[in-house]
Amino acid sequence: MSWTINSAREMYSIDQWGQDYFNINEQGEVVVNLSDDNGVVTPVSLSKIVQDQDERGRPVPLLLRFRNLLDRRIEALNQAFLQAIDKANYQGEYRGVYPIKVNQQQQVIEEISDFGGKYHYGLEAGSKPELLIALAHLKDPEALLICNGYKDNEFIDLALKASQTGQRIVLVVEMPSEVDAILDRAEALGIKPMLGIRFRLSAKSEGHWAESGGDRSTFGLNTAQLIDAIDRLRERGALEQLQLFHYHQGSQLPNIRVIREACLEAVRVYVNLVKEGAPMGILDMGGGLAIDYDGSQTNFISSCNYGLKEYATDLVEIVQNACDAAGISHPTLVTESGRAVVAHYSVLAFNVLDVTDFKEHEVPEAPAADAPQMLRYLWEIQNRVSPEKPHLLQECFNDALFYRDQIRSLFTNGVVDLRTRAQGEKIYWYTITKIAEVLPQLNEVPEDLATLESNLISFYYANFSVFQSLPDQWAIDQLFPIMPLQRLDEEPSQQAILADITCDCDGKVDQFIDVKGAKRHLPIHRPKLGENYLIGAFLVGAYQETLGDLHNLLGDPHVVSVAVEDGEVIYTNEVEGDTVADVLSYVEYEPKTIEKQFRAIAEKAVQKEKITAKQRRDLMDSFRATLNGYTYYEQD
Ligand SMILES: *Cc1c(COP(=O)(O)O)cnc(C)c1O
Repeated sequence: MSWTINSAREMYSIDQWGQDYFNINEQGEVVVNLSDDNGVVTPVSLSKIVQDQDERGRPVPLLLRFRNLLDRRIEALNQAFLQAIDKANYQGEYRGVYPIKVNQQQQVIEEISDFGGKYHYGLEAGSKPELLIALAHLKDPEALLICNGYKDNEFIDLALKASQTGQRIVLVVEMPSEVDAILDRAEALGIKPMLGIRFRLSAKSEGHWAESGGDRSTFGLNTAQLIDAIDRLRERGALEQLQLFHYHQGSQLPNIRVIREACLEAVRVYVNLVKEGAPMGILDMGGGLAIDYDGSQTNFISSCNYGLKEYATDLVEIVQNACDAAGISHPTLVTESGRAVVAHYSVLAFNVLDVTDFKEHEVPEAPAADAPQMLRYLWEIQNRVSPEKPHLLQECFNDALFYRDQIRSLFTNGVVDLRTRAQGEKIYWYTITKIAEVLPQLNEVPEDLATLESNLISFYYANFSVFQSLPDQWAIDQLFPIMPLQRLDEEPSQQAILADITCDCDGKVDQFIDVKGAKRHLPIHRPKLGENYLIGAFLVGAYQETLGDLHNLLGDPHVVSVAVEDGEVIYTNEVEGDTVADVLSYVEYEPKTIEKQFRAIAEKAVQKEKITAKQRRDLMDSFRATLNGYTYYEQD
């Protein structure tokens, strides 16, 4: 069957993880579908964006941000709950809050409070910096500002005082000592804040963050502590301020069954708190709403076996049933969904710098008649590889391996020279490639040969840092959709793993999404001579930016926000990536001092007549250009 862009859609599962946000156009390029203020959708080619930015002096690696996708995610989440509530005739409301830690960028927070305004979308802060961000951005008095995390007096005081502005600020008790800490400050200031309490569910969690919930999680009160806290609140006459019950199972929960179980347990506790005499009114079910990164719709860790609609419907139904049975009113539902709201927002684009290919298609030079015997034997093997003689393949493979190793040990023992060894390896790879190409024509592949393809996977050297831009890929084997941005109307001829430009052997991507689990290589084209071959890493809007680090002192990439207006692409919020001077200053070098030190060294070289004064000037120009340049590989 001939290759079409539909074959590419299927190969990279773009319809599944990309939904209607990303697609492939007739020219074989990946596009993002952006809608303007009137809802008119324009597909924009990502490679075109990269080219436009390159011309403006911002080369790859380049982080693309799409405000419109963020808006659509906010809308999708809120609509899912509104519809579920409407359908079930649920009597409470939905008031989502966005957990700032998931992506703290100013543009994200601004969009949450502006665009989210119509849904009274709120913010969740887990630290003092995040509290400041939330206070400065929330304008809607209906929206919630939920304070999680460990709180010192400074944090507590600010939250208390700010609550007097009329903002609905909830201080959530995260650990037993916080009951008194908060009440002491509240009494001192004469303020009666809205209080919440975080509970440690016993329901088991799943996925990467399974430990975030359950008996051994570090956050929240266990059952005995919860009862103590209730008693303490009552004793101090503050039980009437307890309005919110909170739990958080962890992020990227792949299995809806686990989410439902936790909700069931939580709503029971909620009902009991009402029975204890607390006013309550708000049930905060935390984050965890997952993204289907690999498009498989399974309970695999990089996927999820449910959608937004099912998530909302299930939670509404569970809470409704439990409250109806207990005869209490339906609470306001809160989720702290972060990943599901911001993942689509960013895409990292980078280019391929070089390729190490193991496949050898070119017929190697035949060994001369007087060449070492092992080399001549090796040469004969490749002649025997043919689809007509499948029974010989296994033997050919064994022999090729044997003679190659023989030649290697002859080299080690000083019998043959480096050139001979190189010729041997060339013939070896040529033979293996030939065998690999015959395999698909066989009905049955011998077991030993089944893994042969994996020996032929190419290394593609890619201009980015896994540690800086995809830290979760490195740290917890989280998979992101990664695919070429162009030539998708052409069948990829290679299988590759991506090596980044850090000098760390962990700096690579060798696990890729697949609907059947993960696969070890990415189907990819061979870059053409002079082509700026581009790859995109998608759904990187959640967690990756600030978790990333400065390994090898590779800094932040350039950033651009892309939108459409009247069918035209517009670029806003262009942020320069780190310069070399920037990253040096992060590790406490003073760029001016470094330059001065090196100038002295150069001057000494002039005095010793190793270089001329003119050469010194030239050298210092290069030094300064590097200091002010990009930390990534720059194409001339
Ligand atoms: C991290 C965190 C979240 C966000 O979780 P997601 O899985 O990104 O939705 C929500 N609530 C709390 C308390 C968190 O710590």
